[in-house]
Amino acid sequence: MSTLSLIPTHSHPHYTASMSPAELQAMRAHAQQNPEGFWLEQARRIHWHRKPTQGFRGSFEGDVSIKWYDDGHLNASVCCIDRHLTARGDQVALISHREGRPGAEQITYAMLHERVCRLANALTDLGVEKGERVAISLPMISEAVVAMLACARIGAVHVVLFGGFSAEGIAERLMDSGAVLVITASEARRGNKTIPFKQTMDDALLKCGQNCTVKSVLVVRTSDAAVPMLPGRDYDYHDFVDGFEPDFVPVVMPAEAPLFMLYTSGSTGKPKAVVHATGGYMVWAAYTMGMVYAQKPGDVLWCTADVAWITGHTSVVYGPLANGGTTMISDSLPNAPHAGRWLDLIDDYKVTMLFTSPTAVRAMMADGDAVVQAHSLETLRLLGVAGEPISSDVWMWYHDVIGRGKCPVADTWWQTETAGVVLGPVPGAQPLKPGSASTPLPGLDLALADPQGRIQENSAEGSLCIARSWPGQARTIWRDHERFCKTYFSMVPGFYFTGDGARRDDDGYYWITGRMDDVINVAGHRLGTAEVEDVLATDHRLLESAAVGVPHPVKGQALVVFAIARKNVTAQPTEAGIKRMVADALGRYAMPETVYLVPDLPRTRSGKIVRRLLRKIASGEIENFGDLSTLTDQEIVQTICNFVQEKH
Ligand code: ATP
Ligand code: MG
Repeated sequence: MSTLSLIPTHSHPHYTASMSPAELQAMRAHAQQNPEGFWLEQARRIHWHRKPTQGFRGSFEGDVSIKWYDDGHLNASVCCIDRHLTARGDQVALISHREGRPGAEQITYAMLHERVCRLANALTDLGVEKGERVAISLPMISEAVVAMLACARIGAVHVVLFGGFSAEGIAERLMDSGAVLVITASEARRGNKTIPFKQTMDDALLKCGQNCTVKSVLVVRTSDAAVPMLPGRDYDYHDFVDGFEPDFVPVVMPAEAPLFMLYTSGSTGKPKAVVHATGGYMVWAAYTMGMVYAQKPGDVLWCTADVAWITGHTSVVYGPLANGGTTMISDSLPNAPHAGRWLDLIDDYKVTMLFTSPTAVRAMMADGDAVVQAHSLETLRLLGVAGEPISSDVWMWYHDVIGRGKCPVADTWWQTETAGVVLGPVPGAQPLKPGSASTPLPGLDLALADPQGRIQENSAEGSLCIARSWPGQARTIWRDHERFCKTYFSMVPGFYFTGDGARRDDDGYYWITGRMDDVINVAGHRLGTAEVEDVLATDHRLLESAAVGVPHPVKGQALVVFAIARKNVTAQPTEAGIKRMVADALGRYAMPETVYLVPDLPRTRSGKIVRRLLRKIASGEIENFGDLSTLTDQEIVQTICNFVQEKH
């Protein structure tokens, strides 16, 4: 599979690569030979008030300490705004599209500077001090970007929370983070649903009770609906903020000062609040985004991720702005009010770089090619994807149908903890392999460990680890350094353990096989969830599938598949057919024990399938599901339980 489907470097003449294959090779060699020098050079991508003279200091052993650029001083908002004011103050920094409103806001770097400064003044006026936490729970509107940068400007630590969390989910995170101020909205519309942001926040604050650390709440009014406001605590965002001065002297921070903390998606259990440091993160955001999405003047990058996900931080806000690019946000849904809605926006706003999730690509695929063909999409130069394994079939569809075969597709593998791309191609400088997240970016040293923790050489399969620190590495789990050491550094001593499994082929390309927690072991054969799902993705009658392992008295574990059949196909897939298909492709041992055709799957807000819940349901446990706060739709859990029970 890997070599047959290789797409060579020169096959996308419309895309001008940022470097040649030889330059990329030279960069890799230099980073390998002199990591300290390499990362100090990369630090020049951003603006420092005091330039660092040190790269990495620390250790993955014992109590684990990670420090980068420790003697450097900077302010992240200066890197993203002030630094560009002279050269491109009038260039659009942020395009903000709101569904149901004509046009879009076109916010230049100069305008962004003003807005961020006004909010920085307002936050200071409300008593927020550097190092304190500010929670941001907003829809995808320009205030979300402004809020993050204003926190950075005053040295406060932002904690962006998913809109759509339950009041419990928010309360737990507010108390855990000790946030002193909240920035939220009155409400948001998602398709035909209204999401009551302020109402949920009020409930969450009530739930915090005596443990409530929040003193003020800024509310962006997003509609004309009445919003109850608590005098002395709640402020109308624009009434309050717009009166402040449009200038604010940035608070210069040491490189290791935390810039933000962010909760992981919660696919595998209770979310972890990982902490990222200002200097290393900013260099990393500029570097990784510069390598994969090398924006040129005129390029509009639309990363469709919610700002509450790491992709939203690095690929919507900090990366593109640090690199002086134009970034776009939209609060729209991919297929509401009609199929192809996102494609309309690509044409309307001349998007050149689209970065989305495999789930969104699968949803566009389900709408059918005719919807895509009704759009021009001629501005697109580069396509990207991250968040979950993308099967080679879906990759090819994205490449051929959305990209019209003209645009490279960059599948990038990263985590909240890595803060930026770890595995991903430099488009145009290396061949692509559909379904593979390519190779580590220069400066990253990846390793595969066997179940005993021994590092595997050459082509191999194992748990994906990182041998050396990188600037954007999470420094700790908030208030739980012990959990940090245990989760990431105890599995393979001396290495960062990612929790994912991968295969490395003869060309050094990596293929993610799924989460190590989800690896299925049938009668001694280890199976990655992605391997099974990849097979099912070739059946065009199926929209999506998820494989899990359940205890089995003889085989140890048995394979169970949950699949969604596509609507409007003439012949519906059968359970027996699905079983046969997996067995034919992977071997008889891999024959699924049970197949459930279900209407949908449980997903996190960032679009990931939550296999841990499916595993429980398939094993007959229909209670005690743990933290469901990160799910988009909690009802689907009950629906699937009913399906499974009906079948037995
Ligand atoms: P939690 O850690 O709370 O269980 P999570 O791991 O889903 O949640 P994130 O940090 O948002 O939270 O997601 C990172 C994970 O997403 C990776 O560890 C990997 O499993 C998956 N992932 C990201 N990008 C890719 C990709 N390109 N291919 C395959 N899997 C990917
Ligand atoms: Mg994770």
